[in-house]
Amino acid sequence: VSPAETHENVSRLLSAYLDGELTQAESQLVRVHLEDCAECREAYEELRALTRVARELDFPEPPEERMAELERRISVRAPRRFGWIFLIAGLAALLVYALIRWISDPDFPTTADLIAGAIAVGFVLLFLSVLRQRWLELPHDRYRRIKR
Ligand SMILES: [Zn+2]
Repeated sequence: VSPAETHENVSRLLSAYLDGELTQAESQLVRVHLEDCAECREAYEELRALTRVARELDFPEPPEERMAELERRISVRAPRRFGWIFLIAGLAALLVYALIRWISDPDFPTTADLIAGAIAVGFVLLFLSVLRQRWLELPHDRYRRIKR
């Protein structure tokens, strides 16, 4: 085998050599040639650096992306959750207030109280319809599997 042919062969085998996919004889050939040939040595170093960079980029999910996803999820969910908490707490307080007024005040309810009550009932019905929809959208496979 001429030196030119060896050089040709080795430059083709470099990538496989890096990945440890060569036979022992082939590895030996590459190793010996790298010691003698500056051109192949340079190509090998370049390839090795590229492989290292590629491996570092090959994480299943980059941490920054995971953080961004997490932030996106929190920023959407938190206000909605607080909205529900305030709505439910407000309605509960209104109910308690109405009950106390009804017990202590014989003129209760007034027209304004009835209007406020109608709005509250409307909110409660909307809330219940959303809850029901959420329930229907939930996967119920768990329960079915238990029954079978
Ligand atoms: Zn060479």
